[in-house]
Amino acid sequence: MKPDPGCIFCQIARGEVPSTVIERHPHMVAIRDVNPQAPDHVLVFPTDHIASLDECDDTDMLGQLLYLARQVARTVHIDHGGYRVVINHGDHGGQTVPHLHLHVLGGRRMKWPPG
Ligand code: 5GP
Ligand code: ZN
Repeated sequence: MKPDPGCIFCQIARGEVPSTVIERHPHMVAIRDVNPQAPDHVLVFPTDHIASLDECDDTDMLGQLLYLARQVARTVHIDHGGYRVVINHGDHGGQTVPHLHLHVLGGRRMKWPPG
């Protein structure tokens, strides 16, 4: 998919907007969320612009994103305590940035059901 020049995550992936990078891979990046909802809150996303989960037909990419989320949890040391991986899709899902991303949340006990 073509890069979206106005997309904040595309700009972060290109290094045009600063972020705290946890991991960088050829096709993916993991950064700290600017407005963390837990002591550790990391976003994992493809460097190419994919608008949402519903628009991603690349099953290899989806698997790699999930695998990187697991790696991130180990890197920030929340793997033993436990963590949550979330994808918000669309309006009812609460997606606010239209570039596919996984949230990795940890460092506190999560509540269920989510809001
Ligand atoms: P969504 O609501 O789409 O599932 O998640 C978007 C997330 O991106 C939010 O948690 C929000 O705090 C984060 N976010 C939005 N803009 C920026 C930014 O410029 N830098 C970083 N690091 N995170 C951002
Ligand atoms: Zn984008």
